Amino acid sequence: MSTRSTAEWQSADSKHFLHPFTDFKGLAKKGSRIIARAENIYLWDSEGHKILDAMSGLWCVNVGYGQQSLIDAAAKQMGELPFYNAFFQTATTPAIELAEVLAEISPPQFQHVFFTSSGSEGNDTIVRMVRRYWDVLGQPERQVIIGRNNGYHGSTMAGASLGGMSGMHVQGGLPIPNITHIEQPHWFELGGTQSREEFGITAARWLEDKILAVGPERVAAFIGEPVQGAGGVIVPPSTYWPEIQRICDKYGVLLVSDEVICGFGRTGNWFGCETMGTKPDLMTFAKGVTSGYIPLGGVMVGERVAKVLIEQGGEFNHGFTYSGHPTACAVALANIKLLREQDVVRKVREDLGPYLAQRFAELNEHPLVGEIQTCGMMGAVQLVKDKAKRQCFDGALEVGMLCRAHCFGNGLIMRAVGDRMIVAPPLVMTRAQIDEMMVLIKRCLDLTLDQVKGLGWL
Ligand SMILES: *Cc1c(COP(=O)(O)O)cnc(C)c1O
Repeated sequence: MSTRSTAEWQSADSKHFLHPFTDFKGLAKKGSRIIARAENIYLWDSEGHKILDAMSGLWCVNVGYGQQSLIDAAAKQMGELPFYNAFFQTATTPAIELAEVLAEISPPQFQHVFFTSSGSEGNDTIVRMVRRYWDVLGQPERQVIIGRNNGYHGSTMAGASLGGMSGMHVQGGLPIPNITHIEQPHWFELGGTQSREEFGITAARWLEDKILAVGPERVAAFIGEPVQGAGGVIVPPSTYWPEIQRICDKYGVLLVSDEVICGFGRTGNWFGCETMGTKPDLMTFAKGVTSGYIPLGGVMVGERVAKVLIEQGGEFNHGFTYSGHPTACAVALANIKLLREQDVVRKVREDLGPYLAQRFAELNEHPLVGEIQTCGMMGAVQLVKDKAKRQCFDGALEVGMLCRAHCFGNGLIMRAVGDRMIVAPPLVMTRAQIDEMMVLIKRCLDLTLDQVKGLGWL
């Protein structure tokens, strides 16, 4: 891949490339790890180290690396028509075909799609669209959108505002007006003495409290991820989403499911809302739609909203140069074809997901592990100081980062969210590869335990 040494790449990197969500100065001191190539579920860095990618890139490479049909689809489309827009009463065939296929695989209320190039742009579109919907219906005071603390909806002004990441809100004057948040359904941290199921109802009722505090006549929509991804793979209690649905229905509030991670098979259904049993009015998607091979995102628009915008809305003054990008759409079509032909979603639901859950459950016996959670092909391991008391380590000790360093050193990519270690591996893994991942995870937990003991923190 390269004629330059790793050190030379690192030096050029820190001179010119400002990385996302990065302390620039800190990274320049350490130097980036240069990822050189990939195949199936493995990466190789510029030093030739093989790494098991248990995060699917960034929650997106659902079909794994090196899938020839996606590569061929891009090359073919680029040769025929690399780009044309959809602004001025034109369309390209891959965009039309993808819209058709998305309507087929989505829950039945979704017959229309608005394309973007990322999840963040999808959620910007959501803000514009739900406010427009209420305007057209003659209720322009319905402006307020409710999100959740520690939710993640992207990093544009609207995406970061809908999300509830405090570190993002303190930079750049966020959230923008008329976006507010409730607490997350995180039993381990907030559940107290309630059972998970009781807590699920309690957490959902925070939405009702917020709707009443804002005034139901002012609330446009509620947005949430079926399972919080970037927040730490937080799987809500089974009682949570049905109660959220009931509350949204009661007040006529639009329900938005951010499916950027949960979509395209991750939870064992095409979309996370199917796993959680909700019937959203809008869904955001991105990441897994192309397995990350090329940027694409969008919004599935349910009939309740689509009907109003189409029949009464007139011109919707919103869109992107790359809305419906033909090459991106061609890759998405190849990706969905592969998921269908290999029956990947059913396999996640009936085989791989349950197997991951079974193997993760074994980690409960580890002295550092306070809680495990899985949903389809995502999992979380909460590291704790005292299991019985659900007592965490002092956050300043950054035990999660210690564990992540061991993962890096042992050829495993696992992410740390505070002291929560998370995985979201490709959906095309074999059971044997899950076993291989579990060996690495256990080894890294043991190494972390030894280190934490050595430091006198236990
Ligand atoms: C990644 C993500 C986004 C943002 O997508 P980008 O393509 O990075 O803009 C939005 N919502 C969720 C749930 C995500 O995980």
